[in-house]
Amino acid sequence: MSTQKHAFQAEVAQLLHLVTHSLYSNPEIFLRELISNASDACDKLRYEALADPALYGDQPELEVRIATDKAAKTLTVTDTGIGMSEAEAIAHLGTIAKSGTKDFMSKLSGDQKADSQLIGQFGVGFYSGFIVADKIVVESRRAGLPANQGVRWTSKGDGDFEVETITREARGTSVILHLREDALEFADGWRLKELIGKYSDHISLPIKMEGETWVEGKEEGQAGHMAKTGEWETVNQANALWTRPKKDITDQQFKDFYQQLAHDWEPPLAWSLNRVEGNTEYTQLLYLPSHAPMDLWDRDRKAGIKLYVRRVFIMDDAEQLMPRYLRFIKGVVDSADLPLNVSRELLQESRDVRAIRDGNTRRVLSMLEGMAKDEQAAGGADAAEAANAEGKIDVGTGDATPAPEPTELHGDAVTDVVDKSEAPTAADTAVKFAEDKAKEPGKYAIFWGAFGAVLKEGLGEDNAHRDRIAKLLRYASTTAEGETVSFADYKARMKEGQKAIYYITADTPAAARNSPQLEVFKKKGIEVLLMTDRVDEWALSYLPEFEGTPLQSVAKGAVDLGDLQDEAEKKAAEAAAESVKPLLDKLKEALKGEVEDVRVTTRLVDSPACLVVKDAGMSMQLARMLKQAGQ
Ligand code: ADP
Ligand code: MG
Repeated sequence: MSTQKHAFQAEVAQLLHLVTHSLYSNPEIFLRELISNASDACDKLRYEALADPALYGDQPELEVRIATDKAAKTLTVTDTGIGMSEAEAIAHLGTIAKSGTKDFMSKLSGDQKADSQLIGQFGVGFYSGFIVADKIVVESRRAGLPANQGVRWTSKGDGDFEVETITREARGTSVILHLREDALEFADGWRLKELIGKYSDHISLPIKMEGETWVEGKEEGQAGHMAKTGEWETVNQANALWTRPKKDITDQQFKDFYQQLAHDWEPPLAWSLNRVEGNTEYTQLLYLPSHAPMDLWDRDRKAGIKLYVRRVFIMDDAEQLMPRYLRFIKGVVDSADLPLNVSRELLQESRDVRAIRDGNTRRVLSMLEGMAKDEQAAGGADAAEAANAEGKIDVGTGDATPAPEPTELHGDAVTDVVDKSEAPTAADTAVKFAEDKAKEPGKYAIFWGAFGAVLKEGLGEDNAHRDRIAKLLRYASTTAEGETVSFADYKARMKEGQKAIYYITADTPAAARNSPQLEVFKKKGIEVLLMTDRVDEWALSYLPEFEGTPLQSVAKGAVDLGDLQDEAEKKAAEAAAESVKPLLDKLKEALKGEVEDVRVTTRLVDSPACLVVKDAGMSMQLARMLKQAGQ
């Protein structure tokens, strides 16, 4: 039998070096990774078998078995999933395909201690086996291939691995870990059961271990020992996390599930699990991450929602289930109505999908509204009150009230609607919140910092929810540092007689603040919102007013300060206009072809002149943007 040697891809070698040379704060994560791979493999088989049931062969069971051999010092994780062909084993176990891994590696600092913590939280997929093993053997056969086309993959986790063809009767994969001397605890049944409970209870697949029983010594004085019974027992709950009653799921379980779902090494900011009943029935489990991924602005970026139909995994990245401006949300949708053979094309036309997408949109907006509200409550209130507000996100109004449109959602009732963010117990909330407050900005501020600019796209993209989105927006202003001012805050502070919400767009906050166009507003103490995101100009073109108050760019046309401009000033301006008319004419002549008009203004206080655009004209910010884009 021939054995071929292959070198690992450079990134893998690098990762393996990290794995084997870092001090591990939690070596046990390897089990989570191997079980999650086994579960993915079973999901894949279930999906492929929809089209080709023969793939099941004579083994209809999808399951994971975990076996230990103390004498041989091995731990084996076996699944009856899709398996790997030889070529797949070489490709999948020799290169890194896992999304996020490269981003993650670029975050590593070189400081061993910090890095090992990061790695521990992130998990490094299959290679994490080398935390506890000095040799890993993978034996596999892909579903549908004959028994003599199995593969054995072997590596010691140094620069290379070996591959040979084997005969394997069973479909699926066995990962055999040869445990290091200092990792023999993982050959212990109790220890493993504890870990499965901790990391893999939410896996929808049965995870089985062989039962053990105490055998008395045969003769007087001979010690007894544990022996395997030959019975395989299911040791996890074996139902998908989102199918369980919310009250039975701990925060830690929600977080663990998120970590696997999103490949994110930081805990989520908030989450929401709901079963929606009515014309369209589905379960949604949506997570709001606490930081932006590196590819947030990548147009080809994958969507974050996994689609299941009646517990059967259908596809990753179901982009139809969430609008683009909420592309940062991660989660699972499990539909009761869609056909199992649904394709991406079919998704585009489905009424059910539109209803789910709308339900998801409203759910996320409710989550954000709840967080924003808590933040406001926390702003003025004392710690105890604030803690109270932080405890739960109040979203009762979101989906429970039937929306006037679209009609297919009429009458949908949401059961089990208690949204969950971090919900500390009553006793420790006050203290915890006080500490959080001192250390970091509130949740909404974190959300806004990470994803605010994406949410703004919703103004242009989502007519139906424009007003709700507008209320969630936050800006810096001439009177407030940081992006904290909502349109409602602004309105509450408007001067007597002020008729518009004023804003200015610029490349940077400093440029905005120092713009000569702001002079008269400063002088009169009128707040102006500072908009410095590239998307602002475009987004605001969809929002001519907020709750009846027009939005007015201070860089456009003749700014009409209305009643704020006193009569004397107007008179003075008119007189001035009269007296400088000859100068104006000269300037117009000199700048002919360069500008459309030259006029006297009341908008300046210190600066002698400034450029403005016509009311209907493209603003300078937008013009700059287009120029950058090469138009
Ligand atoms: P990820 O699971 O994020 O893709 P991993 O490093 O955990 O990354 O696994 C790498 C790849 O190896 C998987 O994508 C899969 O193709 C393959 N693989 C790993 N374990 C199994 C298994 N038990 N059955 C089939 N394929 C597997
Ligand atoms: Mg994996």
